[in-house]
Amino acid sequence: MRPAFTYQALPMRVVFGAGVLAKLPAEIDRLGLRRVLVLSSPEQRDTGRLVADVLGDQTAGVLAEARMHVPVEVADRARDLAAELRADGCVAVGGGSAVGLGKAIALKHGLPLVAVPTTYAGSEMTPVWGLTENGVKRTGRDERVLPRTVVYDPELTLTLPAELSATSGMNAMAHAVEGLYAPDATPVVSLMAEEGVRALAAALPRIAADGGHIDARAEAQYGAWLCGAVLGATTMSLHHKLCHTLGGTLDLPHAQTHTVILPHSLAYNAGSAPRAIAALFRALDASPDPSRALWELAGRLGAPRSLRALGMAREDIPRIVELAITNAYANPRPVTAVAVEALLRAAWAGEPPPSPLGG
Ligand code: NAD
Repeated sequence: MRPAFTYQALPMRVVFGAGVLAKLPAEIDRLGLRRVLVLSSPEQRDTGRLVADVLGDQTAGVLAEARMHVPVEVADRARDLAAELRADGCVAVGGGSAVGLGKAIALKHGLPLVAVPTTYAGSEMTPVWGLTENGVKRTGRDERVLPRTVVYDPELTLTLPAELSATSGMNAMAHAVEGLYAPDATPVVSLMAEEGVRALAAALPRIAADGGHIDARAEAQYGAWLCGAVLGATTMSLHHKLCHTLGGTLDLPHAQTHTVILPHSLAYNAGSAPRAIAALFRALDASPDPSRALWELAGRLGAPRSLRALGMAREDIPRIVELAITNAYANPRPVTAVAVEALLRAAWAGEPPPSPLGG
């Protein structure tokens, strides 16, 4: 029987397409904003400047200080700069780090946010914020941090390096995979998840072959939008818990960790999530084993497939198991220490995920 559900849409405007950055000034006008502070990471200062140039006299300034995990000092400095420059909003240009900074400013200081994403991480589609103070990262959900408008221009992703294109794309697919078996999954969000995985699985090998392929870039960003929307609409499970634990405890890199863990976390849940597996059969054209297909896709993309390659020591496995099973997220299959340890051992060594057929 079809499971009961409750669906709540998030109030967001999305403008998508190659060259749509040119529409950003009109989008800023539409929100009634006059002068915005452009936020980027230090590495993307030039992209921040490009966006500031497009905005012309709607730009108050550029702050190129976004960093992973959003240190509270950077959010406060951005607030002070915004006040000094009389900015009335922010435009975050970049990946999850830049968007995360914009969200922190929206949360703490009430400045409206417009996002111009340049990776596939998906933060721009979620009400989830993070803020690091005295070395401790807090996270929460709050609709005030949602970007008012998201401008997806695939031309801005042409410079995303090959490895980050692959791993960021797999990071996006992880949101969709977990959305398919989430306790609050809904039919419309599951359609988005399936289509998001299909689009990314088709686009990423084309990007690996030619990072300058604008059609493939557009397809990947379309998939990333859908996967990000799934992340914003559903509750994540064991996969995200493991990645948050590995990132928070061992400082492993975000997108790469998602890439290594995804085939294994899907294999862990496969027997308890038949609807999700059926959707992934279709999306990946991979019957009977979508987890193996994801592992092979990572290999074809030249992405890392072992935690060892990310610098994790084998001796850290028991500590991660303990943290992962403490306050475990809702998960289709019960989360046990023995099974999670087996998962992590295989992921650490770079082995393929166990087959649902055995052997
Ligand atoms: P990131 O934003 O840290 O970017 C990684 C690097 O890639 C940076 O140096 C950046 O400057 C560079 N980069 C980005 N786009 C580029 C481009 N087009 N060309 C060249 N270089 C480019 O990494 P990310 O993976 O996008 O985001 C990870 C962070 O986002 C993590 O802190 C994660 O916790 C957070 N996140 C939050 C949510 C949420 O819902 N709150 C969702 C996903 C990720």
